[in-house]
Amino acid sequence: MKLILATNNAHKAREFREILGNRFDDLVTLREAGIEHETVEDGVTFAENALKKAREICEMTGCAAIADDSGLCVDALDGEPGILSARYASLDGKDASDRANLDLLKRNMEGVENRAARYVCAIALVLPDGRVFQTEDTFDGEIGVEEKGQNGFGYDPIFYVPAYGTTAADMAPELKNSLSHRGKALRAMEAKLADEAMFGAGKTPEKEET
Ligand code: IMP
Repeated sequence: MKLILATNNAHKAREFREILGNRFDDLVTLREAGIEHETVEDGVTFAENALKKAREICEMTGCAAIADDSGLCVDALDGEPGILSARYASLDGKDASDRANLDLLKRNMEGVENRAARYVCAIALVLPDGRVFQTEDTFDGEIGVEEKGQNGFGYDPIFYVPAYGTTAADMAPELKNSLSHRGKALRAMEAKLADEAMFGAGKTPEKEET
């Protein structure tokens, strides 16, 4: 079965391929599928937005589609930036730059004692027969004061992970993927598909040449 990834983000596409590649014959991004489409993300939860994105692409193409929606929730800010994480510092409703979002978060956290925060990722997979599979997971941490690290993206330079004594941006990509909200939600999706008869055996292994 072909699976369309409702994203053009290369970093996400690689992670989806690594974890779900065994369950589908072909995984393609929107661009690779020749689709130009932007879903209006007007849900009030990560799960609603992920489902809307996947459902629209499935209905447009007749193919299975998968989408994620993620963001950073900060306790002291009543869960903000939350579903608006990509648009936190935006003045026009469009995505703001990582730099502007990060600076606004640092300003809003100045002098705040409770630094607890978590990344959240919701994933939705919609099949052409109408079946829907959904997962969600989190990556717990704290909002640091100083930026550290060059890896990752978004809020990673100030997302401090106490158990590792450093930020998500300071981790090797493999370590971040093993701990991250997206990695965990993707692996939960893979486990759900493994329980389904139509995906259970995974892709038929290629026959060895004799
Ligand atoms: P979306 O899921 O592409 O809509 O991402 C929403 C926003 O959440 C991103 O633009 C980032 O600002 C933030 N975000 C989500 N996941 C991460 C992450 O793993 N690291 C840093 N920022 C993230």
